[in-house]
Amino acid sequence: MALVQCPDCNRQISDLAPACPGCGTPMKAAQASNPKAQAAIPPPRSPKKRMGPMARLTLWLPALWFIAWGCGYLSVTWGVSQSEVTERMAQSGQAAG
Ligand SMILES: [Zn+2]
Repeated sequence: MALVQCPDCNRQISDLAPACPGCGTPMKAAQASNPKAQAAIPPPRSPKKRMGPMARLTLWLPALWFIAWGCGYLSVTWGVSQSEVTERMAQSGQAAG
């Protein structure tokens, strides 16, 4: 916090004051003397483009493919295990019989 001189009434006022308390002159000079605060504000960017249907499809295709692959793998594994169980049951039946 520093003191600055009002250009109108030459009064010593705080540089944080938005206006001179003596004459009411807006202290724009005080705000301009802090360029870091203005530089910290990022420049306005262009609004994000909305994803088109093709972009969404491109994102979803690998996921769908992975899900389909997983289901197929599970079904194949389940089918193999089921056939093995059937064969073992048949073999045990033969052995017992
Ligand atoms: Zn003043």
